Amino acid sequence: MQVNLIDKDELLKKLKQIHDQIRETCGNNDRTARGLRKAIRQIEKINPVQLEHTKTGYWKTTMMSEATGLDLSLTGGYDEPCEYVCSCCNEAAIVDEFGNYFLPNFCPNCGVKMEK
Ligand SMILES: [Zn+2]
Repeated sequence: MQVNLIDKDELLKKLKQIHDQIRETCGNNDRTARGLRKAIRQIEKINPVQLEHTKTGYWKTTMMSEATGLDLSLTGGYDEPCEYVCSCCNEAAIVDEFGNYFLPNFCPNCGVKMEK
């Protein structure tokens, strides 16, 4: 059975960022900002189930040179990560609209806790 876990702190952080952006552009009394504050208060009240994670994983990094066969002598040794996948389920990490990887402490696909 697949369980979808959400990191409460990560969720709150994202919602607060979105709230602050809306408040900056639309003001404190904007309906969406007020709605988000309500949602944030409700989420803060939730007492999360503490899960004992016995299995851990990590974000496997694929470097550009591995993916493309890029010869690093041509780039002066420069290389960069081009993909992160969960070491347990091989699901790729989430990328936002700016191409930034979101690497949470838990795999959003299989729920495994990521090693630091
Ligand atoms: Zn996974």
